[in-house]
Amino acid sequence: KFVEQFPTVQMLAAAELDQVLLLWQGLGYYSRARNLHAASQQICDTFDGVFPSTYKDIISLKGVGEYTAAAIASFAYKLPHAVVDGNVYRVLSRVFGIETPIDTGAGKREFRALASDLLDIENPDIHNQAIMEFGALQCKPKSPDCDVCPLQNKCEAFKTGSISILPIKSRKTKVRNRFFHYLKVSVNDSIAIEKRANGDIWAELYQFPLIETETSIELDQLQSSESWNDIFSNSRIRSVDKSELIVHQLSHQKLHTYFYHIVLDENSTDLTFVNYAELSNYAFPQLIQKQVDLNS
Ligand code: SF4
Repeated sequence: KFVEQFPTVQMLAAAELDQVLLLWQGLGYYSRARNLHAASQQICDTFDGVFPSTYKDIISLKGVGEYTAAAIASFAYKLPHAVVDGNVYRVLSRVFGIETPIDTGAGKREFRALASDLLDIENPDIHNQAIMEFGALQCKPKSPDCDVCPLQNKCEAFKTGSISILPIKSRKTKVRNRFFHYLKVSVNDSIAIEKRANGDIWAELYQFPLIETETSIELDQLQSSESWNDIFSNSRIRSVDKSELIVHQLSHQKLHTYFYHIVLDENSTDLTFVNYAELSNYAFPQLIQKQVDLNS
């Protein structure tokens, strides 16, 4: 659908972001859609509509970092740039027995330099894909197949029994717990939606009106909160139905979520309502889309 809608970079660049996000729906990682859209505009404005072919120009595109730039430069143009992704860190740290933490500046420099030294500059595309695949299929994070590994007699981690501790990370990623209360406010055939702001997950996607709390709270506490009163102080609420708890896991966040179906006699709020039949025109994060599907 995405490629049918945007068969050329010019058409993607000219599209509204809302439309791009709608077609991206369900794929997750919405920042990729925003970056792709911005990069298409850069390609049209700066590179005459032609995808750049040097590392320096490729990395100047929005959303393209060192890893992606090296991957594109080597796979597409056979340029001698080594990719360093999670698989490469793992393979190199084990084979060479490197204990420098991979999430530090020094670690990144050391691994990048080693990966560049090892690169087969005649075949950087095959080399890069091979080392990434080796990490993904052979030297796996847990239970690597050392018994049948062609690098076994060169592998420091195998010799020293340090496979399970390599690669080393200095910090553990902290998971943030958040408590979301989504208000599915309906009046006749309409339901309230709002657009999420920038600077948080799911920027510029749509959702039901949201009250976020610091901790888990009960319905009566929610109904006596300031946020609830800001929305409903002038409303006659006919009924409130609370869903079961839904825990939605993102890479660094755990969303403890309830949906409250709230039926009003009439719209006496400042919320924006759309007809149920129009919901398919809006891009929602998957957590919300499942609720939209339940109502359609
Ligand atoms: Fe990885 Fe084991 Fe092979 Fe070493 S011997 S490279 S740890 S699979």
